[in-house]
Amino acid sequence: MVTETRNNRSWLGSWRRISLFLFLASWLSANAEEASLIDISSAVPTVVVDARYAGSHNFVGAPVDGYLEAKVLLTKPAIEALRSVQAGLAEFGLGLKVFDGYRPQRAVDHFVRWARDLDDTETKDEFYPRVDKANLFSDGYIAERSGHSRGSTVDLTLVDLDTGRELDMGTPWDFFDLTSWPSSKKPSAKQRANRALLRSVMIAQNFRSLETEWWHFTLNDEPYPESYFDQVID
Ligand SMILES: [Zn+2]
Repeated sequence: MVTETRNNRSWLGSWRRISLFLFLASWLSANAEEASLIDISSAVPTVVVDARYAGSHNFVGAPVDGYLEAKVLLTKPAIEALRSVQAGLAEFGLGLKVFDGYRPQRAVDHFVRWARDLDDTETKDEFYPRVDKANLFSDGYIAERSGHSRGSTVDLTLVDLDTGRELDMGTPWDFFDLTSWPSSKKPSAKQRANRALLRSVMIAQNFRSLETEWWHFTLNDEPYPESYFDQVID
């Protein structure tokens, strides 16, 4: 009996050591993995970049964790698809303006911390006037993970290529409201036409849209469909 107990104990000890080793190995490899990302400004210089999470003009009201530089980074296939979108639009004197691409997990964590702080409503008037901050999670506007962290999702709008002025989409980017849903009939016909144009040029280059945000698109066949990266933008 004694021997058997000892054997059991030593077996249990080994098993625990092996488990610990496997846990540490997977944790280290998950954190060591880095996505291969490209700065859209150097790849497609005519695209207007307004990396709003790197500054204070966003719903958090402060620079977001992980955005050390005002850059928009994306995977190579996403960049190549956007290059085609930009070329097609240029024939009509139009172009793209991007607000965000790859988003570090620590930025998403920052959003979650902000959403849980119900006392901080400084940006409510501009970004979520009709949504109770307590409902930002349940309504799906904020989540603990974002497709942006996989590097092939982009937030963007259309601009006049000459002036850089945004086309009227009915709501600004990151406006948490039912009127930001692509299916909303509240915007005028012209605003809906602008949304429809953005959506059709993106879908034509293998992006898919999101039900709740007219500005958000994810590349189909993205290179890292399961990986949520945390490398900082610098
Ligand atoms: Zn987005």
